[in-house]
Amino acid sequence: MFGIGSLAKLSEEIERLGARRALVLCTPEQREQAQDVAARLGTRCAGIFDRAVMHVPIETARAARETAARLDADCAVAVGGGSTTGLGKAIALESSLPILAIPTTYAGSEMTPIWGITEGGIKRTGRDARVLPRTVIYDPGLTSSLPAGLSVTSAINAIAHAAEGLYAQDASPIHSLLAEEGIRAIAAGLPRVIADPADLDARGDCLYGAWLCGAVLGAVGMSLHHKLCHTLGGSFNLPHAETHTVVLPHALFYNSAAAPQAMTRIARALGAGAAPTGAYDLAKALGAPTALRDIGMPESGLDRAAELATTNAYWNPRPLERSAIRKLLQQAWEGRRPD
Ligand code: NAD
Repeated sequence: MFGIGSLAKLSEEIERLGARRALVLCTPEQREQAQDVAARLGTRCAGIFDRAVMHVPIETARAARETAARLDADCAVAVGGGSTTGLGKAIALESSLPILAIPTTYAGSEMTPIWGITEGGIKRTGRDARVLPRTVIYDPGLTSSLPAGLSVTSAINAIAHAAEGLYAQDASPIHSLLAEEGIRAIAAGLPRVIADPADLDARGDCLYGAWLCGAVLGAVGMSLHHKLCHTLGGSFNLPHAETHTVVLPHALFYNSAAAPQAMTRIARALGAGAAPTGAYDLAKALGAPTALRDIGMPESGLDRAAELATTNAYWNPRPLERSAIRKLLQQAWEGRRPD
């Protein structure tokens, strides 16, 4: 479901799923939005679990699974960003409980069968059809409370899915169309969101773009950029969306010569002369961080990050070269414009 006011269709959609006891999931910060959703569900709401946190720690996943079982829930309604959707996925992975997702950021997790759970400081991820939400309600009104800073970084996180989707090994014409259109919609909507965070048409453009970019992430493989962000987030506890924002221009620069057609499409969608500088300039113009050193990365960790990001082989348009990756990380740490 997509559109301003589409949250009004919630009861209808829950009925369509055949659910009678929905467990509403949220972070502590979004309790109020979750309460509104619970009120709309009325007697079909079994309760609210408000302890979603970043990266789905196994302890939180266990507590949510126990709550769902105790309340005899037959559906999880995830109201929030990737962390809350991720918690729903952790429940569904064991119980096959259907998920109805109501995204409030642009992360795109609601469109993917990818789950992640963190145990002992290590985040495991996998793909499983059971965790793909059955229904998604995209209501731009729910994103109007997303702070400006997170709006920008979250939307660039979405752009990153589409950008890597365009040069994926298993890229397809259909997903490349979604990717280019997703980037275009976000690049057009985002400056208007920052000019007026309550502009629901602009919010709608970004959410539409996020939907398409999430669909790309769910369908084709990711490479260097996502691997670097996973490494930096998991091993150095850097914030998710900000890390994507800082790394993207540099990952694109690294892959530029090896994926010229993808770069042309990314640049065109961004309305920029080149993809790496286009991504950098978008972030900078909208006040987002552009340097790893500004989001908590110690310079002393760059060697280890380069090592971790090149230890397990994975496909990337340009072969992984340890020294070149180390240089990329240095540039990203310093926040240099990649040209
Ligand atoms: P998030 O879900 O962690 O949210 C960040 C903060 O913003 C939280 O405090 C949240 O409550 C708050 N917030 C969210 N929406 C809000 C709104 N509309 N108004 C006010 N506050 C709001 O952030 P995220 O970037 O959406 O998700 C990041 C997590 O999602 C990471 O763990 C990442 O790995 C995961 N992720 C997974 C996938 C996948 O396909 N599995 C895809 C993208 C991201």
